[in-house]
Amino acid sequence: MIEKATPYSYMGSEQDLIEYAPVLGIMKKKFPSYIKHAEEAQRFSRRFAREEIAPRALEVDRKCSEDPNYLDWDFFHKAMEEHLPTSFIPEKLGGRGWSALDMFVFTEEGCAACFGLLAVIAFSMFGFSCATVEYEPAVVLRFIKHMVSEEKEGRPVFFAWAITEPSGGTDAEHPAAMRTMRPSIEARKVEGGYILNGTKCFITNGNLAQFVVVNAPLDRSRPLETDTTFMLPATSPGFSVGKVEVKCGQKACPTAELLFDDVFVPAENLWSLEGEGMQHTQEILSVTRGGVGTATIGLARGAVERTVKYASERKVRGHRLIDEGWVQFALADLMMDILNLRHAWVDFALAIDFYHAMKLMRNPVADMALRITPKSVLMSDKLEELAGMGLVSSMVGGLKKKLVTEEIIENCIRHGSALKAAGADLAMRATSSCCDVVGLEGMKRQYGIEKCFRDAKVTQIFEGTNQLNRLDVFEREVGYEF
Ligand SMILES: Cc1cc2nc3c(=O)[nH]c(=O)nc-3n(C[C@H](O)[C@H](O)[C@H](O)COP(=O)(O)OP(=O)(O)OC[C@H]3O[C@@H](n4cnc5c(N)ncnc54)[C@H](O)[C@@H]3O)c2cc1C
Repeated sequence: MIEKATPYSYMGSEQDLIEYAPVLGIMKKKFPSYIKHAEEAQRFSRRFAREEIAPRALEVDRKCSEDPNYLDWDFFHKAMEEHLPTSFIPEKLGGRGWSALDMFVFTEEGCAACFGLLAVIAFSMFGFSCATVEYEPAVVLRFIKHMVSEEKEGRPVFFAWAITEPSGGTDAEHPAAMRTMRPSIEARKVEGGYILNGTKCFITNGNLAQFVVVNAPLDRSRPLETDTTFMLPATSPGFSVGKVEVKCGQKACPTAELLFDDVFVPAENLWSLEGEGMQHTQEILSVTRGGVGTATIGLARGAVERTVKYASERKVRGHRLIDEGWVQFALADLMMDILNLRHAWVDFALAIDFYHAMKLMRNPVADMALRITPKSVLMSDKLEELAGMGLVSSMVGGLKKKLVTEEIIENCIRHGSALKAAGADLAMRATSSCCDVVGLEGMKRQYGIEKCFRDAKVTQIFEGTNQLNRLDVFEREVGYEF
């Protein structure tokens, strides 16, 4: 007889971060406030998942099946009240001051309740992370101030990151593939800026975004050498949203086509150097693939938790379904893989905090500067002006290049791609296996297991298909000349 409910359940409220990943217990001795913050993030995430995400998941999925434009605004406002869209902004500037570890804890807990609803919040940050990648300090400060002040007024700020083309999403994420790609979009250099023409597709939150970060080549016949990243407000003349996709899963988070018809982008909205768009893309992927991998593990866990609950209540042959040995073996197989991959995401989150981009926040000088500078100065126009001066900007840019080297980016793509592909495959296998366990009766919508199955399929396709993620691992393990 199974006495204990699933210990790592978003339905539970107890804190167990150290039990969850024992290495964090060792870390706690050296970095007590860092780990305590993550424990607090876990307590908060479980409550938010239980009270705000789980009760809405099926209803939102149903409404989005009828209308792909539907968005649960009440949910998003709840997320804003908790400062979730600005969670990575330091507390002193109005955010939650979350580390990558905090964010990944939230991702696993939230995705166990509903991948789609979590994605609306998490993916809106993608575009902002595009700004931080360039470490253009004035731009980062301007966006932080805008996001925090809009959030205070209850007005959401969405970003979209548009790299996928109708001609192929894989090509837009892989240097060798991009070399032979024929993009539909092109940017033409004109006086004072650039003119964009073309189409992007399958863009998360594309129909909601106020700001769109978009990659386009300056010369279609040399896409890799001329690929460049731009930022444009969605109010730019000539920009419009095409169709919003009807997807099999992750319906709560919309995906849209974006149309560019002679859209002027001023030169100051260039978000990579000309021809360095692919490097920009790779640097973002070196962080986000690990995040998506974490989300897939949450999704697999959510399916297993729902199956344990169903199988504990369902009677077969005069006993509970969960008392069948084959059911216990099937679920144990999945639990083993979830436990193992959880260590991989914890490791990846620590790497982002101590080895990749977020290590700047752990730098004692930066930490002290943030601590002693009054908030009024940090949020002032004067500081933004100062940050925009060539010397300051190139100093920060230089520091960033030293901190986040190409080697770090390559290594994190290798580990992040492995985590993403293994996690998405696990989510697909877990949800399929859970459907086998519960049978047709358990696959009724009300149990949420078939929704997990639909959500899982999408994870094998986005953030680079699992084939591309495998290729990225192979090339970094074995070496490959382009
Ligand atoms: C829910 C969802 C959200 C998304 N959000 C975004 C977003 O916010 N921003 C964005 O830019 N994109 C987004 N995408 C698009 C996503 O990144 C692409 O679907 C993905 O990159 C695959 O591209 P594709 O669908 O065009 O497939 P294709 O690139 O056409 O690939 C088709 C098949 O060929 C294989 N293949 C292609 N090229 C190669 C190669 N060189 N080597 C080996 N195999 C190859 C692929 O693995 C796949 O099996 C989203 C997609 C979905 C479903």
